[in-house]
Amino acid sequence: MQHGADGSIRAADLTHRVTPGKDTIMARVLNFNAGPAALPLAALEKAQQEMLDWQGTGMSLMEHSHRGKDYDALHQQTIALMRELLSIPEDYHVMFLQGGASQQFAVVPMNLLPAGKSADYVVTGAWGQKAFSEAKNVGTVRLAATTEDNKAFVRVPKKDEIKVDPNAAYLHFTSNETIHGVQFHDNEPDAGGVPLVCDMSSDFMWRKFDVKRYSLIYAGAQKNIGPAGVTVVIARKDLVEKGRTDIPKIFRYSTQAGENSMYNTCPTFGIYMIRNVMQWIKDSGGLDQIEKWNREKAKTVYDFLDAHGSFYRAPVQKDSRSVMNIVFRLPTEDLEAKLIAEAKKAGMVGLKGHRSVGGIRISAYNAVSLEAVSKIVAFMETFAKANG
Ligand SMILES: *Cc1c(COP(=O)(O)O)cnc(C)c1O
Repeated sequence: MQHGADGSIRAADLTHRVTPGKDTIMARVLNFNAGPAALPLAALEKAQQEMLDWQGTGMSLMEHSHRGKDYDALHQQTIALMRELLSIPEDYHVMFLQGGASQQFAVVPMNLLPAGKSADYVVTGAWGQKAFSEAKNVGTVRLAATTEDNKAFVRVPKKDEIKVDPNAAYLHFTSNETIHGVQFHDNEPDAGGVPLVCDMSSDFMWRKFDVKRYSLIYAGAQKNIGPAGVTVVIARKDLVEKGRTDIPKIFRYSTQAGENSMYNTCPTFGIYMIRNVMQWIKDSGGLDQIEKWNREKAKTVYDFLDAHGSFYRAPVQKDSRSVMNIVFRLPTEDLEAKLIAEAKKAGMVGLKGHRSVGGIRISAYNAVSLEAVSKIVAFMETFAKANG
């Protein structure tokens, strides 16, 4: 424990670091940001150690050419680690692109939605809405299902609510709605013979999953696996090959896949950080262990919320609750602001719900420890007693 400048107790991790000639004490806050979000300390420290001299080359990795053998080895290693952790089959490309998941909202239909065809969308929150409306700028799209009941997204659709057009070019859905805290669990859309496309930005690699279920997966790195600036795309090779060629070359998956994401300069440092996060997952025992921690964290918070339902209200239906982004309300907006302010004083940040929906959001991504979650829950218990 350490006292902050204003005398408040900081709940932050205190980490002693001894470096030659220097003994520093570092206080890191508990970071519940929705994205960019917390990164594993081990991944950050590795970057710190390797920053100035990348493997004896006398310069940082950032200063290396993306075409040189030093960077190339790192690039291959990052892909290999991701392939190993997820058991990505050989007939899938792994790409590291730029432009964020938002760019993929346009690039997916540009590549996969030919003239004369239509694409299906399942909308369970704000990101799905954005993907759907951006695709409209490219071609013909159709809603296969939406759970915008009374203007609020609080659940995923039931199986029989999803009406898939068997001739659709693809079916798109968002596995975890970061803003509304709505996540598919073992009830993801069954697209039949239609290629399934998933925006997995905020729950990518929270557990192991069967890549073969999907034709294309994309995920901005800054939620669960790295810094902003890299978007992972995992796509079936035959789908990439059949992609449209009447679009600019830079936007074709076939271009980037053919050049191993190095058609133009790739985001080298962001990819390096993903490498560090992949290594941390592996060293932690792999995705099965990460999943156990994530489930335990989410259970800790939801059990607490359910036990204190007169003060904290979790709007999302139980079967659709997100393991990654836990959203809830307090009796008044003033109390919500008060909780955010007091939590900050106690060394816990990033709790404000998205500006479009308000409330509180605890993002408990892979890098957020069980200990951090226990601390925020203890804080919330004290807060409810004092303000309830
Ligand atoms: C954050 C997020 C996006 C947008 O990502 P950008 O990198 O800002 O474009 C899209 N989809 C989901 C599910 C997200 O969580």
